[in-house]
Amino acid sequence: PLVLGIESSCDETGVGIVRGTTLLTNTVSSSMEEHVRFGGVIPEIASRAHLDAFVPTLQESLHEAGVTLDDIDAIAVTSGPGLAGALMVGVCAAKALAVATGKPLYAINHLVAHVGVGLLDRQPASKGKPADGKHDAGAAAGLGAGKLPENLGALLVSGGHTEILRIRSITDDVELLGSTIDDAAGEAYDKVARILGLGYPGGPAIDKLARQGNPKSIRFPRGLSQPKYMGTAEEKGPHRYDWSFSGLKTAVARCVEQFEARGEEVPVADIAAAFQEAVVDVISSKAVLACKEHGITDVLLGGGVAANSRLRELTGQRCASAGITLHVPPLDLCTDNGAMVAALGAQLIMAGIGPSGIAFAPDSSMPVTTVSVPA
Ligand code: ATP
Ligand code: MG
Ligand code: FE
Repeated sequence: PLVLGIESSCDETGVGIVRGTTLLTNTVSSSMEEHVRFGGVIPEIASRAHLDAFVPTLQESLHEAGVTLDDIDAIAVTSGPGLAGALMVGVCAAKALAVATGKPLYAINHLVAHVGVGLLDRQPASKGKPADGKHDAGAAAGLGAGKLPENLGALLVSGGHTEILRIRSITDDVELLGSTIDDAAGEAYDKVARILGLGYPGGPAIDKLARQGNPKSIRFPRGLSQPKYMGTAEEKGPHRYDWSFSGLKTAVARCVEQFEARGEEVPVADIAAAFQEAVVDVISSKAVLACKEHGITDVLLGGGVAANSRLRELTGQRCASAGITLHVPPLDLCTDNGAMVAALGAQLIMAGIGPSGIAFAPDSSMPVTTVSVPA
């Protein structure tokens, strides 16, 4: 089926078009620049930006794919989780399109869509090796050319999410194994970059600066790693596969204060490197543990933090030692986009699952177990 996907859960307005598992277009407009001076996404500004960007993004996507709205078989839209006002814009636009064209509408889960993108044909298989969208375009299909591996997991790490999922079926059986209990990893990067005076978004700045620092110079805490949270393989603790990054952020702030109080120069590169090592160490170790203990053999990495060089490297190494294959889609498919929404919509149609109608409301805290909203 030819499916148009719409994404507006955060600061990216995305419209993508797929035919089955083939990616036709992926057009994204981001309001990230407008949030720079605030050091984080301002929901009201993001919502207004979606309103401005939607129609031009839709037109460009249709034009590039060489199709018209008439040709489209179905429309899919992110219905949650995400920022309520931002979701509302995409959902209203999608409903209007569905009513005007008479096409079926699928209200889908943003997190599961991050996994669905792994099915697209442009997807290269990369065992922890950095995959650059531009260079890997057209590379061999990774996740079995439209068929997901049987024991699949997904590690989603972005500005709003840090989650490890088990996917038994992309259309109706997704389970949350672990998640952050406070800040998302990308959020921690952004907050720490602010403390270090590195600007927004913080991830790329810290990633770059960390290469000049010594990650072993300071040992920052790995949240929820104590025995009382981890438990044992026999008797699992309450947060065995969960993360916490707010204590780490506080530890970085205290560390900076101590250098300043002593009148010493703050070793920004060392702190960046040590912070990054703490984040990446705990993300990769807990993700790999969750996979091993659930018989997961393939993991898909998604979200904006998938751009992080150290996260790819360490997760790749640890997966390899555990006999797990790590799949890293091209970066433009890891960050928020409409193609992933279309990709999941196409899967639902091919699985014979019915559309959502137009009576649904966006759900800012939609659980991963809801892959699509039933009519
Ligand atoms: P959502 O959480 O809804 O998926 P988002 O807009 O918050 O969306 P993304 O756009 O996927 O998240 O990713 C943005 C986040 O990724 C920011 O927090 C940014 O700092 C982080 N990031 C980007 N590049 C890197 C990098 N190289 N290293 C670490 N973090 C990075
Ligand atoms: Mg974003
Ligand atoms: Fe996302």
